[in-house]
Amino acid sequence: MPELPEVETTRRGLLPHVEGRRVARVLLRRPDLRWPIPFDVEALLPAQKITTIRRRAKYLLLDTDAGSALLHLGMSGSLRVLPADTPVRAHDHVDIALEGVDGKPGNVLRFNDPRRFGCLLWQMPEQTHPLLAGLGPEPLSDDFDGDYLFSRSRGRAAPVKTFLMDQAIVVGVGNIYAAEALFMAGISPLRAAGKVSRERYAALADAVKAILSHAITRGGTTLRDFISPDGAPGYFEQELLAYGRGGQPCPRCGRALKQASIGQRTTVWCGHCQR
Ligand code: ZN
Repeated sequence: MPELPEVETTRRGLLPHVEGRRVARVLLRRPDLRWPIPFDVEALLPAQKITTIRRRAKYLLLDTDAGSALLHLGMSGSLRVLPADTPVRAHDHVDIALEGVDGKPGNVLRFNDPRRFGCLLWQMPEQTHPLLAGLGPEPLSDDFDGDYLFSRSRGRAAPVKTFLMDQAIVVGVGNIYAAEALFMAGISPLRAAGKVSRERYAALADAVKAILSHAITRGGTTLRDFISPDGAPGYFEQELLAYGRGGQPCPRCGRALKQASIGQRTTVWCGHCQR
């Protein structure tokens, strides 16, 4: 499943191909993905110039003066920039054809999503789509740090892992990254969020930033695969210390890693190194 680093890598990969380009046509090969594709996409996007691509949480926004196309890759989605005559493959649901520049034919931004948990929606100018309302800060922004986590967590009895995965607290920290960050910071995922000190939250925020930044940096090296016609979907292989390693030796102390379900999500941690 594409996580925040894959979405950010997709954004960076698409940006030079899409920014400043005018949309020639929108072709929907089906009326819906996870949700129906609103009429606004076909009515308002053609002829608009894409001013930039932004990312918010795991959503991508293609900004134009008429509004923004709001895309989510879901469980299995990918976006590629392709020559317009590239044959259509199974699950290629949406084409956003771009006008060419300097007499060259334009490319097409093609959305493929076998499982169709992704979406294509529309956000009017100066508005915030309901899906984006109420989201917490970006984990790589200055708004997210130990002091922020400390202040938001006071009085909370929920496990710190559940707290960290709450999109209203911080966006884009999924199950894998939460487990890894807690391992790095030496915090038990079971500890009540309200019982973690300011200092330990500072370590946790640093760990989240380090893990996500590292994944994005590594993603840059596979960027070509991400947007090329024949590349694999290219979700990143991860170097995981804890996640998926239940029962195996802790990379730090050698004791067997524990595994349990917290908030219906499997988590792995070291009972010795994480308190
Ligand atoms: Zn350990």
